[in-house]
Amino acid sequence: MRIGIPRALLYYYYYPMWKTFFEELGAEVLLSSRSTKGILAQGLKYAVDEVCLPVKLSFGHVLDLAGKVDYIFLPRMVSVEHRKYICPKFLGLPDMIRCLNGVPPLIDVNVNVYRRDRDLYATFQKAGSYLTGNQLKIWTAYRRSLAALQKYNRLLQLGLIPEEALAVLEDRVKNEPLPYPADLNVAVIGHPYNIYDPYISMNLIGRLRSMGAAVYTAEQVPEKIVIKYAERLPKKLFWTLGQRMLGAAFHYLDRPDISGLVHVAAFGCGPDSMTGELIERQAHAQQAPFLSLTLDEHTGEAGVLTRIEAFLDMVRWKQAGAAGL
Ligand code: SF4
Repeated sequence: MRIGIPRALLYYYYYPMWKTFFEELGAEVLLSSRSTKGILAQGLKYAVDEVCLPVKLSFGHVLDLAGKVDYIFLPRMVSVEHRKYICPKFLGLPDMIRCLNGVPPLIDVNVNVYRRDRDLYATFQKAGSYLTGNQLKIWTAYRRSLAALQKYNRLLQLGLIPEEALAVLEDRVKNEPLPYPADLNVAVIGHPYNIYDPYISMNLIGRLRSMGAAVYTAEQVPEKIVIKYAERLPKKLFWTLGQRMLGAAFHYLDRPDISGLVHVAAFGCGPDSMTGELIERQAHAQQAPFLSLTLDEHTGEAGVLTRIEAFLDMVRWKQAGAAGL
C-alpha cells in the first residue's frame, strides 16, 4: 500500500514519526514534491479564500499526491499536548480536502491528547488498522515511531533545520552539517511550515546564513525553557504553537548572544496577529533589533531581500556602536 504525506503544515514536526510508523507496517510512504509556484497555484485555485497561506499551500501538496497513492495520511489535529489545543484550521482540514475532486481516500484519524498523552496510542491503533489487524505489530511500530521522533527532535535542538535533520536520519549525509560561518546570531520565530519551507519563506534561513548570520529557531529551545518564558504572560496561552513561539522569542530576547529577532507571520493567520504583536512589543521594550515579515502569495522576493539586508545592516551597526567602533 502506498501512503502519501503532504510536505506541508505539521510534516515539519512529525514526518519521521509518521514515516517510521507506516514503513514498519509494510507501507510505502510517498512525500509530495517540494513547494513550487505550481503547487501553490493549485492550492490557491482550490482552497477557500478565507484560510491562511500555509493551509492553501497544503491543498496544493495534497493535489500533488493525487493519482500516485492509495491513501493520503491527513490526521485531524485537535491537540498535540496535554491541556492545549492546536489551531482550529488543522481540525477542519480533512473535511475541506475531502471536498476536492480526485483526491485519494484519507486516513484522517483524530490526534487529540488534550486529556491524556496515552490517547495518542489509540490514534496509531486506528491508523495502523488500515494496514494490519496485528496489534503487536502496531504497538512495535508505534514505539519505533516515537523513538524516531525523539531522535529528530534532538537534531533540531542541536540547530539543524528539518531538511538537514531528515538527511541525517535517513543516512543521506555521513556527518551532521558543520555550523555556517557567521559573525552574528539572529533568532527567526514563526510557524515551522512557514520558516522551514524554502519556497514560501523565500529561503529566509538560507539567505540569512549566506549573509553571515547564524539562525536560531524555536525548535532549538528545550520545552521547559519555552514554558518558563511563556509564563511571563499574565494569562496562560492554550495554543501549542503560539506558546512555543512566544516562549522561544522571550528567551532569545534575553540572550546577550542573540543580536536580533525576525518574526515571520502568514497572511490570514489569526494567532500570528496576536503572538506577533506580543513579541514585537517585548522586542521594542528591550530595544532589540526586530523585523516583522508577513508572507502571502503576492510577496515579492526583491522586497524581502531588501528588508533582510537592511535588518542585518542595522544589527551590525548596533553591534559596532556597542563595541565603540
Ligand atoms: S496557526 Fe495560523 S498559519 Fe497556522 S494553520 Fe492556523 S491560521 Fe494557519
